[in-house]
Amino acid sequence: MSPETVDTIIADGTVVTPTGTIDAAVAIDGETIAAVGAEESLPVADQRIDASDRLVMPGVIDPHVHVGEDPFTIDTYQTASEAAALGGTTTFVNFAWEGWDGETSIYEPETTLVEGIRAQKEAAADALVDHSSHGVLATERDATIEQLEPALEEGVTSFKLFTAYEHGVSYGFMNQALRRIAELDAVGIFHTEDATVCDQLTEQFRAEGKGDPEWYPRSRPDYAEAMAADDVARMAQEAGAKYYGLHTSCRKSAEVLERYQDDGSQIRAETCTHYTVYDDSVFAERGNLPMIAPPIRKPDDVDAMFEHLRGGALSVVSTDHCGYKRESKEVENWWDSTFGANALQTSLPVFHDEAVHERGFSYPALVRLMSTNPARTFGMPEKGTLEPGTDADVVVFDPAETYTIDADENGSEADFSIYEGRDVTGRVEQTFVRGELVADDGEIVADPGHGSFVERDLPDWEQ
Ligand SMILES: [Zn+2]
Repeated sequence: MSPETVDTIIADGTVVTPTGTIDAAVAIDGETIAAVGAEESLPVADQRIDASDRLVMPGVIDPHVHVGEDPFTIDTYQTASEAAALGGTTTFVNFAWEGWDGETSIYEPETTLVEGIRAQKEAAADALVDHSSHGVLATERDATIEQLEPALEEGVTSFKLFTAYEHGVSYGFMNQALRRIAELDAVGIFHTEDATVCDQLTEQFRAEGKGDPEWYPRSRPDYAEAMAADDVARMAQEAGAKYYGLHTSCRKSAEVLERYQDDGSQIRAETCTHYTVYDDSVFAERGNLPMIAPPIRKPDDVDAMFEHLRGGALSVVSTDHCGYKRESKEVENWWDSTFGANALQTSLPVFHDEAVHERGFSYPALVRLMSTNPARTFGMPEKGTLEPGTDADVVVFDPAETYTIDADENGSEADFSIYEGRDVTGRVEQTFVRGELVADDGEIVADPGHGSFVERDLPDWEQ
């Protein structure tokens, strides 16, 4: 045993790893986990934290958030990372966009992907938690494909393409991008909804004056999501590329992806917290606030998310966090509302409540779905684990405390929560990012700027 002292010991808690739970203490020194074991076998610490009756888990790794991407969110790195820290998320991955010729382009159309990545790194100076970006390919240019290799040099090893919206691309271009992604051993990540189906239904409902939020999910149906997932996963299989399906919302999509996984193709997918908690009755209850694309679906789809999280077709739970004000949602017709909702601060307690407390998932499953799998899927070996030598990103969590979610406590710029008023069991008490306590009992206790950019590896999905 090392005779030296360490900075912090989190003692008497239940340590949750991806494979089990142990009653042990966690020793943190500097930015890393020094040891996990019986307290008496560990070095003396300057600070001792009593975690009795608490879980001690790796911090949540949220691989799908929108931060610093106006108009797709109003959250800055500072506001989003306050929400993250309060919610036990120690690393998030947002999006770095190239420019395109369109209304919602963040940058001038000529802006390259690498310029977009560097702009995000600069905007991140005030981040409190660690962060990285996926690159977004929003135009069908050879020059865009040529940006993939220099993007890897920037530490960005995954690339997003959309089948929908004005920055969506054709299957021909996706196929070209997938072949290059395969050559580079990078990861393709996909928003899959058939745009022609969704656009036609949207136009029809507008013409018919069906502006109540209950019509919204019918404008972007589950089969449109499954159709596009099928097409893009097939191209990824043909290219031999790693495919990661974003925000899987329904049984039909999950079944498509499961089918491609069965032959050993490199196909993975996430769902998001809201698809595991709500069905489409939420629109009658909460209006446009939970308008998210793809939409929240039917009760059977909620059950399907849990079946496929158990079965492995879905291996990650993310938030798709978008910060918006209530006023951008409280409009007469759903098509004039913003799409997206904030969840960084609530995802861990809400998913713990639903998956563990209500549906019997284990603590290690919670850690795999929210920490370990996203870290491994996206090339962050220092994250998502409490192995000695890795980053000391740690959450102390009380699995028994029940509280009511209140948007007045938002760290996000958003002034509402789709979980407002919901009682959840499980509360984040402390969040450490690389050894530093950043949130303590609902308060931010570190200065902005502690967070740093995570240079990601090319992930090995064979492991
Ligand atoms: Zn998103």
